[in-house]
Amino acid sequence: MSIARKEALKTIFNYKPIKKTKKFFEKPSGEIFGKNVFSLSEMKKRLPGAIFKSLKKTIETGSTLDVKVADVVAAAMKDWALEKKATHFAHVFYPLTGLTAEKHDSFYTPSSDGHAIAEFSGILLVQGEPDASSFPNGGIRQTFEARGYTAWDVTSPAYIMENANGNTLCIPTIFISWSGEALDKKTPVLRSMQSVNIHAQRILKLFGKTDDNLLNVTCGAEQEYFLIDNNFISSRPDILACGRTLFGAESPKGQQFDDHYFGAIQDRVLSFMFDVERELLKLGIPAKTRHNEVAPGQFELAPIYESANLATDHQQLTMVTLKKVAKKYGMTCLLHEKPFAGVNGSGKHVNFSIGNSTHGNLLDPGDNPHDNTQFLIFCAAIIRAVHKNSELLRAVVASAGNDHRLGANEAPPAILSIFLGSELTNVFEKISNGGVADSSEHEFLNVDVDTIPPLPKDSGDRNRTSPFAFTGNRFEFRAVGSDQSVADPMTVINTIITESLDYIASFLEEKVNDNQENFDSAVQEILKKIYLEHKDVVFNGDGYSDEWQKEAEERGLPNLKTTPEALPALISDKAISIFDKYNILTPVESHSRYEIFTEQYIMKIEVEAKTAVNMAETIIYPSSLSYQEELANCALKVREAGLSFDTSRLAIIINLTDSLNESTSNLKDLMAIQKETMQSQMEFSCNEIIPAMNEVRKYADQLEELISDDLWTLPSYKEMLFIR
Ligand code: ADP
Ligand code: MG
Repeated sequence: MSIARKEALKTIFNYKPIKKTKKFFEKPSGEIFGKNVFSLSEMKKRLPGAIFKSLKKTIETGSTLDVKVADVVAAAMKDWALEKKATHFAHVFYPLTGLTAEKHDSFYTPSSDGHAIAEFSGILLVQGEPDASSFPNGGIRQTFEARGYTAWDVTSPAYIMENANGNTLCIPTIFISWSGEALDKKTPVLRSMQSVNIHAQRILKLFGKTDDNLLNVTCGAEQEYFLIDNNFISSRPDILACGRTLFGAESPKGQQFDDHYFGAIQDRVLSFMFDVERELLKLGIPAKTRHNEVAPGQFELAPIYESANLATDHQQLTMVTLKKVAKKYGMTCLLHEKPFAGVNGSGKHVNFSIGNSTHGNLLDPGDNPHDNTQFLIFCAAIIRAVHKNSELLRAVVASAGNDHRLGANEAPPAILSIFLGSELTNVFEKISNGGVADSSEHEFLNVDVDTIPPLPKDSGDRNRTSPFAFTGNRFEFRAVGSDQSVADPMTVINTIITESLDYIASFLEEKVNDNQENFDSAVQEILKKIYLEHKDVVFNGDGYSDEWQKEAEERGLPNLKTTPEALPALISDKAISIFDKYNILTPVESHSRYEIFTEQYIMKIEVEAKTAVNMAETIIYPSSLSYQEELANCALKVREAGLSFDTSRLAIIINLTDSLNESTSNLKDLMAIQKETMQSQMEFSCNEIIPAMNEVRKYADQLEELISDDLWTLPSYKEMLFIR
């Protein structure tokens, strides 16, 4: 074993858990929750009644923020932040790279008497002006118009980010260009939530319900991740540069025993989890569930759901926190969708529903026929939305990392179908077969609802093979990658649901235009129509099976396997017009997104290819040469002693090394090729560069299995996955 690896193992086996101070344990999590958040209750304590009311109204009903309010809020926020020992404030935003961006400013400005005073006005709270030129814009503006604005998102509370050397007040903001185009992921989420609200309210109104409060889309995202000891990571240039291994022979022991999932959580990992959860709770993020995942070294964290916009911000903060806290425990948190070949990758299950405190959860089947009917209408809207826009849903989860997962028998296939469960499917089947009772005897509606059994509250769906599943009182979109923001999936889900709700509301409104009596039959009619037109998207079977691939094709469901196949759906006429119609994205914004995601893909593959070449040439080839030398010297000595030496192993190594070199230079040649358009470059990366990289890997992994362990410097799968 190489010296570096020996040292690494020694450090890991000598690892001592960090001793927590008494302070860590002194407060129960209930007291810690939201400690670092400028929450509504904190505002209520600190703001004059009228101001608080005005702000609350903005948050709850979506009315425009009164600018006069901002100054007062800013003053209170500053006082609170200074009490929390913050010295700086930052507008936090989410550029299209998927990362989190912050621009920090000090609260303090020098005063004329040589002291420093803390300043923070309404305008500083509400608006910022970071230089936008370092963020991708997908052709939206020229560099001379590099100005971008951040603007406070009132619906996501400010919070304190702690650091050992000082605290920062963080203000969640949107990020737009000087000409008003969204340059970020948050703006479309907010726009799309507004539009769901408008059209969902129209439906509720038809059911005789009104409400001033916004209907929210709720979201709870389960996050999978790997934890790997830093001592290994530091010797793996591929993980450092790409977040995943580009080389590595299979470990003799993999996940075949399923012993990780059911095993107890290791002590070191558990300490890490406790710490992560406390940090999240302080930020008002309701972390709830934790467990081991299927792959060795893989874990999961799930929060309690929140309003989609807040959940999106919190999800982003969760990813940052996981990485940050892991470092404290000498580990690296890998969020890549496929850090290790041949081992399950990581995803993000995006659970969502629609509702608010007045109406409850609209995707919760009710106890009575009336509620059930309303529930079925919302369900039907989603069935129709997914069927009509499956390419768009696929496009929005397309990334270089996620391509390794989707369809790889560990994650849902690239075919977008809906799992309804047998009971709900039966209900829809019945309705579409005209199972309508006599409409004179009904109390309210008669979509054969009397015969609908109290719908399964928790159908306990354990069919993990569906990308889009009804799970009792919500839908779960499971094709999202572990490293992706939930902003884009939420935006698309909201947009396509809006379109369906609009369609249904318009249909019903027209039917009941002058006669409310038509309502029941109109509801029956639309449920039946939607189910018959869109039932092809419903599939309750095994999504991993080959039969499904065939059947899906017969049903005409798209099966877009890679990012270059999937991304163009973002700029199809259909997508552009639906985004535009509901004011989610202008055509210019849609195009810019496609361009940025394309560019991101190309750059990711480029970095991977460069890293692969570099490792092959400077790590793997030298190891291989050293081993050849060892074998050759041995052969000489043995033969000098008059004995025979079997050189077949040496020949194999020489052969593999030649192949390694050939495939590396082939990869280099391909990397020099420039295609005309971004789309063709992306296709080239996918269809030529990746296979060429895999070819280099093939020889490297074979060499790893033959070369003396002393000479192989890269930490192996069997070490990285199992030792922590
Ligand atoms: P499972 O592993 O069975 O899917 P988990 O408990 O790990 O279940 O995760 C379920 C996720 O779904 C949680 O994040 C939870 O908050 C979220 N969730 C539950 N109800 C809703 C809802 N109405 N809207 C959005 N998310 C929800
Ligand atoms: Mg789940």
